[in-house]
Amino acid sequence: MIVDLRSDTVTQPTPAMRNAISTARVGDDVYGDDPTVNLLEEKVAKLFGKEAAVFTPSGSLANQLCIRTLVKPGEELICEVNSHIVRAELGAAAAFSGITTRTWTDPYGELSANRAIEIARPNSGPYLVSTTAVAVENTHNFGGGTIHDIKEIEALKKWAEPNRVKLHLDGARIWNSHIASGVPLSEYGKHFETLSVCLSKGLGAPIGSLMISTKERVAEARVWRKRYGGGMRQVGIIAAAGLFAIENNISRLVEDHLRAKQLAKACHEIIPNVIDPTRVSTNIVGLELLGANISAEDFVAQARAEGVWMGALGPTYARLVTHLDIDDSGIEFAVKVLQKLLKQAFVSK
Ligand SMILES: *Cc1c(COP(=O)(O)O)cnc(C)c1O
Repeated sequence: MIVDLRSDTVTQPTPAMRNAISTARVGDDVYGDDPTVNLLEEKVAKLFGKEAAVFTPSGSLANQLCIRTLVKPGEELICEVNSHIVRAELGAAAAFSGITTRTWTDPYGELSANRAIEIARPNSGPYLVSTTAVAVENTHNFGGGTIHDIKEIEALKKWAEPNRVKLHLDGARIWNSHIASGVPLSEYGKHFETLSVCLSKGLGAPIGSLMISTKERVAEARVWRKRYGGGMRQVGIIAAAGLFAIENNISRLVEDHLRAKQLAKACHEIIPNVIDPTRVSTNIVGLELLGANISAEDFVAQARAEGVWMGALGPTYARLVTHLDIDDSGIEFAVKVLQKLLKQAFVSK
């Protein structure tokens, strides 16, 4: 048996999703002719209460299109230190858009409006760099699937508006936040000027993300998407999977969250310090292996040899992610393997 918990991006399209793909109506999307893409863009914009959206091949591109419409070259974007935008997009904001970044720190990536506000420097005049946008990642991936208190988002927005600072949401997993917190998607749309969302994570589509904002910003993003080489032709083939995912796979995320909690509890039961299950509110389980007799990389290799696949994201940090293709029998199997390996890893040598 193989239980692949490396990421929620590893899912296989289901037969029903493949059927939606095979029957999709398509057209040349660079001409705006693809009815399936147009429908997806309209639907997703509406879900968030926004005017418009543009389909992109990746979440990184969606993020980059968002922040380049918010921040001019030489201006500053601030975010949490382990945000995808600054850790996992290969410096794209600097390389493509001339954007400089500064970061605040939180162990779980949790948003504290005050911490962001403390480091923000809007309207800094002719000698110092001016902060023009704040990016919030929800859920926070490297923070362990953390969701943010909507009150902190409101507080940040309350400060940002009069200071003319724009808010961007990296909502690759906003669906998970929505399901875990009950906060409506349109509520997130209200607070953020731009949003990026992924269809290819928990929702189980093979490819696809969207940049969401005002008509004007989306029109500008469309030009930049083409300039970056991201204009796609009969891409309704892929958008159809996204539409299917939105219609069928949002509410079931609650199952992924329950299974992640189950994994976390089982690991905590063996070694309490590796994970605090009360911090696991979505589909990501981060194991802190500090004090183990092996590295995260070796621990991950041992688990893989036993059929449980996960990722080593730091020298002592391993990550497990539940998703559409993981069922209860997979979790049961993973629990057995992980409990055995954790016991071995924390025996003093
Ligand atoms: C996955 C992810 C993205 C986008 O990643 P791509 O691989 O470019 O689609 C953006 N932000 C976060 C937090 C993510 O987890």
